[in-house]
Amino acid sequence: MTPVYIKVHARDNVAIIVSPDGADFAEHIPQSHKVALEEFEENQPVIRYGEIIGLAARPIRKGSWIREDMLHMPSAPPLDKLPLATATPSAQPPLEGYTFEGFRNHDGSVGTKNILGITTTVQCVAPTVDYAVRRIKAELLPRFANVDDAVGITHTYGCGVAIEAPGAATPIRTIRNISLHANVGADPLVVSLGCEKMQPSRMFPMWESGRNVIRMQDERGFGETVATIMRAAEKRLEELNRRQRVPCPASDLIVGLQCGGSDAFSGVTCNPAVGYAADLLVRAGATVMFSEVTEVRDAIHLLTPRAANEDVARDLIREMQWYDDYLARGSADRSANTTPGNKRGGLANIVEKALGSVAKAGTSAIMSVASHGERVTSKGLVFAATPASDFICGTQQLASMNMHVFTTGEGTPYGLAMVPVIKVSSRTALAEKWPDLIDLDAGRIAMGSASIEDVGWDLFRLILEVASGRKQTWADKWGLHNALAPFNPGPVT
Ligand code: CA
Repeated sequence: MTPVYIKVHARDNVAIIVSPDGADFAEHIPQSHKVALEEFEENQPVIRYGEIIGLAARPIRKGSWIREDMLHMPSAPPLDKLPLATATPSAQPPLEGYTFEGFRNHDGSVGTKNILGITTTVQCVAPTVDYAVRRIKAELLPRFANVDDAVGITHTYGCGVAIEAPGAATPIRTIRNISLHANVGADPLVVSLGCEKMQPSRMFPMWESGRNVIRMQDERGFGETVATIMRAAEKRLEELNRRQRVPCPASDLIVGLQCGGSDAFSGVTCNPAVGYAADLLVRAGATVMFSEVTEVRDAIHLLTPRAANEDVARDLIREMQWYDDYLARGSADRSANTTPGNKRGGLANIVEKALGSVAKAGTSAIMSVASHGERVTSKGLVFAATPASDFICGTQQLASMNMHVFTTGEGTPYGLAMVPVIKVSSRTALAEKWPDLIDLDAGRIAMGSASIEDVGWDLFRLILEVASGRKQTWADKWGLHNALAPFNPGPVT
């Protein structure tokens, strides 16, 4: 039977309303918003997920609708007093025998798609590459049945920037790692303008200088440039077309987790279900990345104890501190994260949002930390630092991941060209409203018709199906592929 409200933790003194039509207590309270389960005095802690999400700004009657303006937001946990690796979870029993059909690459990585990738050193050449890609798709791709797609790896970086400034390292390594992605066989074509700051040798310092790069300023006009790209593409397509999917252990998966358009259900339905699937993936030997610094910051005291060792805990703190400083330079703090949609969805503040967000990370030990745009190398659960902005986070996670899981409460059509994006809804109402965009409904958990474990297993199996190319995500069916948006914390000139 569908409950009236959901209380997450025994200590909680608020709960969220389940019914799509809301519920009547001391007043009418809409779905996913909070009801006071007791009388509150001024400054009394308001507790959800067993943690303080705010202090009552004034006395609150039992049965009242707790709105954002009735809470004072607590300050973020201080970074100098955090427990370091004090409660590292022990490994759970391994899950053996789970496989998917992937494309094995020369560098050891495994692709979940077989894509012709054409990368760019600078935005100036992006429309030329897009033009060439349209022709490749129309004229060449139909002849190569084993190749899934041709993708221009275009972005807004590459010139007009302080390329030697420390902040430039982030977009450069992000674009490098995306260009060498497993799903383009770790071997892209490269198109450069010629005069740009991000020269091919800076983007790929490990490549020998003789490697073929198409330099537009060396070509005779637009038509010749496109013809040169088409010739190189045809040669590469012949190589890619010889590749076959082969059985690969689930440990070859690198799954990036993200949430966007979250609501108060996200932390009780889709994010815990994703967390359960994350634990299954870790048990199967895979890599699972969680990210979004501003949505982790207020729950960091729950994460540093889970680090595999003190160094990993200190790496987590280093990434939190970097982002605190970055926001302070812009005269902001982590409270700038929440959106009008989050608040409409019942999330009072970033503290409540963060406590629900970290449920995606499951219960495993945190094995390592990657900084912005770095490629993740360890197995198990890892924290990959990114902004929480959906398309910037996704771009940075793309430096490593070959599968993407995205949870949403308010709904988003988000997708990426280079990896499949599985979208999981927090509420059944969203899955019913958007049946041709949401891949998996975790709202069944709130309705009482499925458990967190049920949906976690459903997601785990769906990841293996999609990674094998046997099932297609809605975003891929419609070709909903967001632009790449590398994070550039460095100066623009
Ligand atoms: Ca996000």
